[in-house]
Amino acid sequence: MSPTVVVTGAAGFIGSHLVDRLLAADFAVIGVDLRAVHGDIRAQFNLTAAVNHHRYRAVQADLAMIDLDALLDGVDCVFHLAAVPGVRRSWGTGFPDYVRVNVLVTDALLAACARAGVRRLVYASSSSVYGHAVSPSREAHATLPLSPYGVTKLAGEQLCFAHALRGDSRLSTVALRYFTVYGPRQRPDMAISRMIMAALTGIPYTVFGDGQQRREFTYVDDVVDATVAAATADATAVAINVGGGTSVSVSQALHLVEEVTGRDVPLHRSGEQAGDAPITVADLDTARRLLGYQPRTDLRAGIAQHADWLRSLPAPAFQEFLPPVPAASEVPA
Ligand code: NAD
Repeated sequence: MSPTVVVTGAAGFIGSHLVDRLLAADFAVIGVDLRAVHGDIRAQFNLTAAVNHHRYRAVQADLAMIDLDALLDGVDCVFHLAAVPGVRRSWGTGFPDYVRVNVLVTDALLAACARAGVRRLVYASSSSVYGHAVSPSREAHATLPLSPYGVTKLAGEQLCFAHALRGDSRLSTVALRYFTVYGPRQRPDMAISRMIMAALTGIPYTVFGDGQQRREFTYVDDVVDATVAAATADATAVAINVGGGTSVSVSQALHLVEEVTGRDVPLHRSGEQAGDAPITVADLDTARRLLGYQPRTDLRAGIAQHADWLRSLPAPAFQEFLPPVPAASEVPA
C-alpha cells in the first residue's frame, strides 16, 4: 500500500508542486489548505492535476481549527508548508496572524505528530532566518532575522528541533531553508512573477532600493527535489539550505526577464523595504551531503518556463497574477 503523507499549504505555490510530485511517486496524499479548490481561482489552477486523482484527498480547513489527531492517523510523514508568507506585511498589524499560523499552528502540529507516531516532519523554513548574511550562508552561521516574518520562521524551526529532541519523541524533523523560490504558480506578490507580468502587461515593476540586492533564486522543481528527499534523509533534527546555485542582483534578474520575454520591463522606483536582506546566497554542502541535492534549473531556463506558464493562463487566472499598481508616491524610473 502507498505510504500516506500530509502536505499543509497544499493549494499554495510550492505545496501544489509538491503534491503533484508525491502523487507521481505513488504516495497517497492528504492536502490541507485554507483555500478551497472550488472557489479560489489560484487554488483551482494549482491543483488542477491533483484534485481528481484517486490518491489525493483535499481537506479545506484552517489548521488551527481542525482535529489534528484525526488528520494524522496512519500518516507516515508531514510536509508542513502552510504559513503566512512575505516579509513586508509582517510589520505591524498583520503580525498576530504570522504568529498564529507560523508559530502556534506549527507547535500544535508538531505535538500532534508526536502523539500520532508520525516518523518525520519536513518544515518549510526560509533564508530569511539569516538576516545580514555572511556570504555564502552556512547552516551553522548565526541567525538574526531582519523581519518579523523571519522571526516566526526561525521560531518554527526551533520548535521542530525542540519536539524532535524530546527524550520521549520518535518524531524527527528536517527544516529546509528555501532561498527565494520561483517558477509557475509563484505567488503574485513575489519578484520574478511581478517582473514577468510587468513585461507582459506594461504595468510597472516596483524596484525597492537601488536594485543591487542579490538573491539566490531557486526553481520550484529543485525545491521539490530537496523536499521529497528530506522525507527520508538520515537526520533527527537538522536545518538544510535549499538554493538555486547562483545569486544575482535584482537588476540582473530584470535583464534576464527582458531577454527571455523580448520586452522591456517598465520600472517604478521606491525606497528600501524594511526587512529586505541585502544579499542571500546559500552554501549547499549540507544539502548535497544529506539530500543528494543538486539544483538542475538555471535562472534563464527557469524564467522562460515561468513566463511560458503565465502566458498560457486563461484570462480569469491571468488577472489573479497582475502585479499591484505602484502607489502615486513612487517615482517613475
Ligand atoms: P503560499 O502562500 O503560496 O502557500 C501557503 C499556503 O498555506 C496557502 O495556500 C495558504 O492558504 C495556506 N495556509 C496558510 N495558513 C493556513 C492555515 N492556518 N491552515 C491551512 N492552510 C493555511 O506560499 P509559498 O510561497 O508556496 O510558501 C510555502 C512555504 O514555503 C511557506 O511556509 C513559506 O514560508 C516557505 N518559504 C517560501 C519561500 C518562497 O520563495 N516562496 C521562501 C522561503 C520559505
